[in-house]
Amino acid sequence: IVTDNKITEKVLQDILDQNKHFATQGKVADYIPELGKMSANSIAFSVVDTNGKVISVGDTDKKFTMQSISKIIALMVAVQENGEEAVFKNMGYFGSDKPFNHFGNLEITGKPLNPMMNAGAILTVSMIQGEGETAFQKVLKMVRYITKNESINYNTAVYLSEKETGHRNRGMFYIMKNSGLITGEENQLDNYFKQCSIEVTAEDLAKIGYFFANECVRFDGDATHKNADLSKLIQSQMMVAGMYEFSGEYARRIGLPSKSGVGGGITVSVPGKMGIGVFSAPLDSHGNSVAGYQMIWDFSKRFQLNIFTP
Ligand code: GLN
Repeated sequence: IVTDNKITEKVLQDILDQNKHFATQGKVADYIPELGKMSANSIAFSVVDTNGKVISVGDTDKKFTMQSISKIIALMVAVQENGEEAVFKNMGYFGSDKPFNHFGNLEITGKPLNPMMNAGAILTVSMIQGEGETAFQKVLKMVRYITKNESINYNTAVYLSEKETGHRNRGMFYIMKNSGLITGEENQLDNYFKQCSIEVTAEDLAKIGYFFANECVRFDGDATHKNADLSKLIQSQMMVAGMYEFSGEYARRIGLPSKSGVGGGITVSVPGKMGIGVFSAPLDSHGNSVAGYQMIWDFSKRFQLNIFTP
């Protein structure tokens, strides 16, 4: 058995160096114009080990937007507030076999497939209570809490760019409003765009991964939100739907609950143990960071982290 006391900066740096070149195989997302401005060369790799110690290499200060990774935080806040039963009353627990912006069964059953694809995430956000920006502020507050980083905020330019070009998301919002699943106004969709635009570093993502891996206990041991059942729910959704339609194959290769975002970040939970955060903006055709995926794969092999390992 390989123990995590061998996780050092040197090990992480080697893994980063060996996988950096994969970034050239990907393409920085530009369907949201502001995202297209991200540098393709920045790369970062961060781990929070079983003791809550943070180890980071690469461009550790580089900020990028959370994008879809914000969906796990919104899910947590919505479930804390309304209970799981209410949140999943009109939404499934299904795995993803379709791109994140796919309408799924929305037109047939009227219900989003899961809270990890856009439709379900938009519904989830609409269930967080409060007027105007309140729901978004709750999500932002939770991100700041989990990372213990009060400087985290959202990027206004990215937010406005999402709002301006998010026609598919707007379409989903109105289909659900039409069927009565959503009763609020378009500011609820704005809250979704805002949470996607929250800026973090790879280190912040590693802390988020650690949090959900460890019963919602923070890396420094703070247990304010401790909830074993909630962390199981979040990790199971990450496992079956966190990497979009690549989730099944990803589970086969890596075997760890993970959530990616089109900003180039991936957050990984090693159940009961660690958190991993990676960043590299160029994406594969599914919207997952290419170099990020490769670094996680190497790391998980090296420390035998795949949960299906005997
Ligand atoms: N804001 C993005 C969108 O809704 C988030 C998608 C993602 O990261 N996959 O299109």
